[in-house]
Amino acid sequence: MSRTALLVLTLFACNDDSAGSPVSAGTPAGEPGTHVLVVGAGAAGLTVARALDAAGVSVTVLEARDRIGGRTWTVDVGDARVDLGASWAHGTEGNPMTDFAEANGLAWTADETPWSRLYDEYSGSALGGPAWRLMTAALVGFAAALPGLKARYGDTTVDVARDDYLVATGYTGQDARLTQHAIDQWMVELSYAAPVDKKGLIGFWEEESLGGGNQFPVGGYGGWIDAIAEGLDIELGVPVTAVRHGKEGVEVDAGGKTWTGTHVVVTVPVGVLRAGSIHFQPELSAERQAALARLDMGNLEKVVLGWDEAWWDGSLEFVDADVSGVFPEFYDMSEPAGAPTLVGLYGGRFSRAVQAQWTDEEIVAGALDVLATAWGREIPPPAHTAVTHWTTDPFAGGSYVFLPAGASREDLETLAEPESERLLFAGEGTSPDYYGNVHGAVMTGLREARRLGVERFEVEGWEEW
Ligand SMILES: Cc1cc2nc3c(=O)[nH]c(=O)nc-3n(C[C@H](O)[C@H](O)[C@H](O)COP(=O)(O)OP(=O)(O)OC[C@H]3O[C@@H](n4cnc5c(N)ncnc54)[C@H](O)[C@@H]3O)c2cc1C
Repeated sequence: MSRTALLVLTLFACNDDSAGSPVSAGTPAGEPGTHVLVVGAGAAGLTVARALDAAGVSVTVLEARDRIGGRTWTVDVGDARVDLGASWAHGTEGNPMTDFAEANGLAWTADETPWSRLYDEYSGSALGGPAWRLMTAALVGFAAALPGLKARYGDTTVDVARDDYLVATGYTGQDARLTQHAIDQWMVELSYAAPVDKKGLIGFWEEESLGGGNQFPVGGYGGWIDAIAEGLDIELGVPVTAVRHGKEGVEVDAGGKTWTGTHVVVTVPVGVLRAGSIHFQPELSAERQAALARLDMGNLEKVVLGWDEAWWDGSLEFVDADVSGVFPEFYDMSEPAGAPTLVGLYGGRFSRAVQAQWTDEEIVAGALDVLATAWGREIPPPAHTAVTHWTTDPFAGGSYVFLPAGASREDLETLAEPESERLLFAGEGTSPDYYGNVHGAVMTGLREARRLGVERFEVEGWEEW
């Protein structure tokens, strides 16, 4: 009988009482023979692997794709270096990601994107300072009204509160359109990536944020990912299909092989867990399954357009005629990318429709149409393009988690809990405070390394964490 088969028998023999049993913290990191399997080589998986490895623990990372980085992905689009996933560090104070970068000689630069053009398709005009101020006031005003609206409406979707707010302002015509766009796009569909008619009102706009402003990693997120992954044992191209866990250890089926270990840390996105493409034995607790069913994934996507020469000036905000979020923002990323580049961002309702039906050519053509409308002239064909599909990617299942009506912070807390002493979870969607962010993912990696007994991180930049 093979070693694997023996372990299977041991696992199954102890399944009944191991499922749902309380987890003792323990100090596996200090025990010889500890071997941790990490599922997923994104920010969370690489962080937990790096922290354990530095503490002298044997670790193997199993990654489905043929690259590391997960939802951070830096690529060349012509001469431009562009992030197709995360682009910003949202805050640098108390951020283990930027602490690691600083200690390892990686640079970050403040986002000082000039927003030069605000265009309203309905009125067919480019708008100036007063319109920007109205939209900023809408954001501030709606945020201030939220406590009262939450008390009035309870567990519903954000659009219900937005409609109430719009009536209360008394705005009509263009002012109402701009106010709705600021709430729907800036506050919901581009921030949470969620459709405004799905995003839950409870807990909305209450998340923690870090100080230090928005920063770009110089040269893209790839540098950070490569630095943290250096020297780790990573198996690429091995999608995990099954995880078995019991008192004696774990087994993971991936890439036509069975991998054995003492512990497994699963860091795949909530979208992958919701899809059920990984078979857990014993099956995940009813609490975790219910939390997964209540949560959902947002759909932020990018269309990257590169030219040999810039024909525009600054970034663009586009308010489409239906206020439904058609290619609402184009960032001038020429400076961080190192070549003339516009990156269109879209999420929520429009993104769900586009990702389900449009070809890449249609997405590029649609984005160019918006630019032509806003600039009032024909746009030269881009020399290079890239189009993302996080929504339909089987190893992402969307851009990042959001809380629809009916879900709550407790669902994220449930996902953060270990399933057993042997099966632990990390990743953006297990961070109740910072979900949707790379730093949230990194913090969950540190959390699980600590849970496995690492008392002090022997990694430059993390000594104080
Ligand atoms: C378009 C977009 C823009 C974003 N912008 C920002 C931003 O500006 N700033 C910010 O802070 N955050 C941003 N985010 C969110 C950020 O990218 C994520 O929160 C973070 O990268 C998640 O890291 P993670 O390790 O939790 O998950 P992931 O990076 O998704 O890592 C999980 C890994 O698991 C692997 N995997 C999946 N299934 C399997 C399987 N069956 N077997 C083995 N491996 C598997 C995946 O391939 C992946 O490598 C953005 C995300 C997107 C999509």
